[in-house]
Amino acid sequence: MGRKLGWHCDNCARGEVFHLGYSAKALNPPDFVEEAVAGVHGSLLKALMSDDARVHVDVRMRGAHFRCPYCQRIYSGKVAYLQDDSGAIFRHTIAPARCPHCNTVVDNEASGVRVRSKGIQRYVDHIWTVGCPTCGSEVEHIDVDWS
Ligand SMILES: [Zn+2]
Ligand SMILES: [Zn+2]
Repeated sequence: MGRKLGWHCDNCARGEVFHLGYSAKALNPPDFVEEAVAGVHGSLLKALMSDDARVHVDVRMRGAHFRCPYCQRIYSGKVAYLQDDSGAIFRHTIAPARCPHCNTVVDNEASGVRVRSKGIQRYVDHIWTVGCPTCGSEVEHIDVDWS
């Protein structure tokens, strides 16, 4: 279950949709494991996820949202939670290295960058009120509950 929240501008065809409450339940998603073993996500994840690793970890992925500290716009990414048999959790963020809106290099691990549902609600509310961030036209509201 969750909620889709966003906006669309008919004038310049821009828009954004955010999935709230979305959490992929998939345990050890194969594409992520493959990337981790290949070293795409760094040497620590490569060591933890490889077949000959001395520890066993399970991975769960979750959707996450981030706010660009420069243009204040929001973009989407994922967070991988790696958990061992004691329950210890290591968190790894997967998100664009540059803000997709203003192209500035962003630090996705920095505290305060991640945005919770309330922050997204406020962000979308703001655009609903003031209009399209690109052309200023009135935008179509997107607000859908799904299960
Ligand atoms: Zn527009
Ligand atoms: Zn930005």
